[in-house]
Amino acid sequence: MSQYVYDFSGGSMAQRHLLGGKGANLAEMTNLGLPVPPGFTITTDACRVYLKEGREPHELAEEVTDHLLSLETTMGRRLGDPADPLLVSVRSGAPQSMPGMMETVLNVGLTDRSVAGLAAASGDERFAADSYRRLLHMFGTTVLGVDDAAFVETLDELKRRRGVTDDTQLDADDLRALVDAYHQIIGSGAGRVFPQDPREQLDLSVRAVFGSWNTQRAILYRRHEGIADDLGTAVTVQAMVFGNRGPSSGSGVAFTRDPATGRRGAYGDYLQNAQGEDVVAGIRNTVPLEELAQVDPVSHDELTGMMGRLEKHYRDLCDIEFTIDDGKLWMLQTRVGKRTAEAAFRIAAEMVDERLIDRDEALRRVTGEQLAQLMFPQFADSSSRQPIARGVAASPGAATGEAVFDSATAKRLAAQGRDVILIRRETTPEDLPGMTVARGVLTSRGGKTSHAAVVARGMGRVCVCGADELDIDVAARCMGLPDGTVVREGDPLSIDGMTGEVFSGHLPVTDSVVLRSLAGDHGDHGDHGDHGDHGDHGDHGDHGDHGDHGDHGLVGAVRRLVAHADAARRLSVRANADTADDARTARELGAEGIGLCRTEHMFLGSRRQLIEDLIVADGATEQQAALDALLPLQRADFTSILEAMDGLPVTIRLIDPPLHEFLPHRDLISDEPDSDRRQRLAATLDRLREENPMLGLRGVRLGFTIPGLVHMQARAVFEAAADRVTIGGDPRPEIMVPLVATAAELAVIRREIEGIAVAVEAERGVTLRHRIGTMIEVPRAALTAHEIASSADFLSFGTNDLTQMTWGLSRDDVEASFLPTYLDQGILTTSPFETIDADGVGALIRTAIEQGRAADDALGLGVCGEHGGDPASVRFFDDLGLDYVSCSPYRVPIARLEAGRAALMDRSDAP
Ligand code: PEP
Ligand code: MG
Repeated sequence: MSQYVYDFSGGSMAQRHLLGGKGANLAEMTNLGLPVPPGFTITTDACRVYLKEGREPHELAEEVTDHLLSLETTMGRRLGDPADPLLVSVRSGAPQSMPGMMETVLNVGLTDRSVAGLAAASGDERFAADSYRRLLHMFGTTVLGVDDAAFVETLDELKRRRGVTDDTQLDADDLRALVDAYHQIIGSGAGRVFPQDPREQLDLSVRAVFGSWNTQRAILYRRHEGIADDLGTAVTVQAMVFGNRGPSSGSGVAFTRDPATGRRGAYGDYLQNAQGEDVVAGIRNTVPLEELAQVDPVSHDELTGMMGRLEKHYRDLCDIEFTIDDGKLWMLQTRVGKRTAEAAFRIAAEMVDERLIDRDEALRRVTGEQLAQLMFPQFADSSSRQPIARGVAASPGAATGEAVFDSATAKRLAAQGRDVILIRRETTPEDLPGMTVARGVLTSRGGKTSHAAVVARGMGRVCVCGADELDIDVAARCMGLPDGTVVREGDPLSIDGMTGEVFSGHLPVTDSVVLRSLAGDHGDHGDHGDHGDHGDHGDHGDHGDHGDHGDHGLVGAVRRLVAHADAARRLSVRANADTADDARTARELGAEGIGLCRTEHMFLGSRRQLIEDLIVADGATEQQAALDALLPLQRADFTSILEAMDGLPVTIRLIDPPLHEFLPHRDLISDEPDSDRRQRLAATLDRLREENPMLGLRGVRLGFTIPGLVHMQARAVFEAAADRVTIGGDPRPEIMVPLVATAAELAVIRREIEGIAVAVEAERGVTLRHRIGTMIEVPRAALTAHEIASSADFLSFGTNDLTQMTWGLSRDDVEASFLPTYLDQGILTTSPFETIDADGVGALIRTAIEQGRAADDALGLGVCGEHGGDPASVRFFDDLGLDYVSCSPYRVPIARLEAGRAALMDRSDAP
C-alpha cells in the first residue's frame, strides 16, 4: 500500500519527485537540525490520484489525521483549538520549481472562536485579527474562488478612510472590521459561509492546492518550461510561525550569493512585521538584509551562519525564505536558486576555487544557452535607465533604431542606411521584408512561440514580443505608453531581447566582453585546463567587495569552464565559414577547421556577372571563357581560407543551389538594355524555372549538367593548395559533394576530382594532402550509406536539407508560415530546424553512421547543418559518436562547451 503522507523528519532531498522540491528540501533542512517549523508533506502520488479520479485517495484522510496528531503533540497545541490554536500553512511544492504558479493558504485553523484564543495566547489582539483577515482573503480567493479584487478594494477603502498608507498602521478594531467585511464578501461571492471547522479548512485547502496544478497559468508555464503535465504537486502542511507579530518579527527572502551577478555574500530582502507573502507580493518596500543586521543582529548572524551551512551542504547557490517570530529565527524554505547566465558561470567557477565542487560538476552547471546569452551585444549601461515597457525576451541581443510601424517603411528607411525597430501588434508573413532589414522587432502580443519570436530567432534578429502595456496604433504610426506618452514613427527606441526591456532613446550598444575575451583566446584554450586545481589563475583574486567591477570574474569563469570542456570533449568543433575573415574569427573562437565552406557565396556581388555569363553561355567556347575568368578568383578565395586555417581541415563544398538563383529576377530583366543578352537571359530563366527548386537541378546534379563548373572549382582548390604548399603552408582541403542520393553519382564525380588532383600535383610537382567526401542530405543517401561510403573519405550530415526532406517541410517557407501555429498548439515543442528531431531525422543519421562505419571504420563523420551549434543537438551528436560538429563561427564556443558537457553526462550516466 502506498504511503501518501511523510513527516518532514521522514524524508530527504532525494525525494523531490514524491515530496516536491519544497517538501524534499524542508525534510533535508529538518534533518540538518536547522530551525524548521515541523510539519508533513502530502505526496505527488496523492495529487495524481486526485487529478485522475476527481477525489482524494481513500487512505489520505486517515494518514493526515495521524500526522496532524503527531504535529499537535510536538507543538503542544491542537489545530484551531479555541483556547490556544495551532495554525498551519498549506503550500504547493512541485517536483520542478514553478514559482508563483500554484496556491498557498496561510493561518489555516483560525475561526471566529480560535481567533480570540490566538489573541489571548499571544497577548496581541491586533496580530490575531490581522492573521484572520489574511486567512479569509487567501482562503476566499484560493479555495472558494472569490474574486481577489473585492478583498483588495475593501482593504484599500479602509486604509483611505483611516488616512493610512500601510496595512501595519491599521489597528485591531480596523482589522476586526475587515474580518467582518471579508466574511460578507465570502458569503456573497462564494454562496457559502467561511468554514468554522479547522479540519474542513485544511482538507479544502489541500484540495485547492491539488487543483491549482491545472490552472491555465500553470499549464502554460509548464508548456513554456518543458515540464511534464503528469507530475502533480505535493502539498506541505507546516506549523505557522508569525512574522506579523509586531516590530520584533518579520519575513524575508535571501540568496547565499547574488543571483544576478554571482558575486559572493548573502543577498536578500527583509520586511518587518509581515508574513511571507507580503515580501514577494511587493506590498510594502522591503529593506536589504544589511538592515536586518541593525534591527536584529542576533537573528541576522544566526541567519548568515545557516546560509553558510546550507550552501556547503547543497554545494550550490541557495534561495531561502525565513521568518523571525518575535525574535526567534525560523527557516521556511530552501531551494537551489535560479540565476542569470552570468551568475551561473561565476558561481560554478568560484565554487571550484572554494573546493565545494570539482570542475566536472562546475561544467555540468552551465549551459550552451547561457553562454550564447553572454556572447550577444549588450547595452552599455541599461541598468541606470528606466524601461518604458517590458515584454517577453524572445530573441537575445541589444538593438537600437528609429521606431517604424510597417514593413514598407522599414524597408525604405533601411535602404537609406538607417537603423529601424519594427513595431507591430503581432507579425505575419507579410512583415518578413521589414523584419529582415530591421535591427529589432517589437510586438505587443504573443509569447516566445509567436510568429515574431520564431522568425526573429531564426534570422538572429533581436526581438521583444508581447509587451502588452503598449498601445500600438499602426494606422496612426505611433504607440501609447502606460504613462500617457506617445512614441511616434522616427522616434529613437532601444530594445533588449535578453531582458524584454524597451527603452526610449538610443542606448549605446557594446560588444560582449565575454565574446571579446574568447576571441582573444587565439585558440590556445587547451592550456588553461589545469588552472582550477592550482588556484593560480589570474582572475582568482578579484571576487570580493572590490576588484570585481566590470566583468573580470565573469570572463575568467567562462574561459576556465570552456577550457575544461575542451579537455573533456570527444567531439571536435569546426566552423561553417565562407571567407577568410570568417575563418579567422572562427579559429580565434576555437574552431578546429572548417566543416562547411559554401562556395556559392563567392559568386555574389561583382562576380555575379561572371557566373551569369557561364549560365547563359552559348556553346563550349563561351562557357570555357566564363570558367577561365572564374578560376583565378576562386583560387584566390581558397588560398586565403586555407591560409587562415593552415594546418587544419577545410571542407569546401562544390556549388549547390539551383542556377536560377544566380540570375536576376524575371521582373528585373526588363532593366537590361534590349539586347541579345537580355533575350538569352529571359530564355535561360524560362529553361531553368522550377516548380520546386529545392528538389530540382542543384547539388551534385549540377556536376552532370555543367561538368566544367565542378572541374573549375576542384582545380581552383587544388591550385590554391599547391600555392600554399609551395610557400611552406600546410593546406588540408577536403572537397565535399552536396545532395548526393546514390553512390553512382558520387563515384563519377569523385573520379573526376581525383583526376584533377593528380593533374595539378604533376603540373606543380607537389603532393597534396586532400580528402573527398559527400554530404548526407537526402534520406536515400542515409539509407544507403554503406554504398556511398565506398566513394567517400568522409560523410557530413547536412541536417538542414535532411530535416527538410525527411519532414517534407520547406525550411524557407514554414518558419514564417505555419510553424508558429504548430508550436503554439503544442504539436511541436521546438522547431526541427533548430533542434535535431532525434526520433525521425536522428534515426536516419544513426542508420547512416552504422552503415558507413561498417563499410569503412576510418570513415570521417560530421555534421554541418545549423544543428551543429544547437546545444541539445550537440549532445545528441556526441551520443551518436560523430567526429565533429560544424557551426557558424560565433557558435563555436557554445558547441565546445556543450560537447564537453555531453562527454561528462555520458560518463556520469554510465551504469
Ligand atoms: C544542410 O543542408 O544542412 C547544409 C549544411 O547545406 P545548406 O544549408 O547549404 O543547404
Ligand atoms: Mg544542404
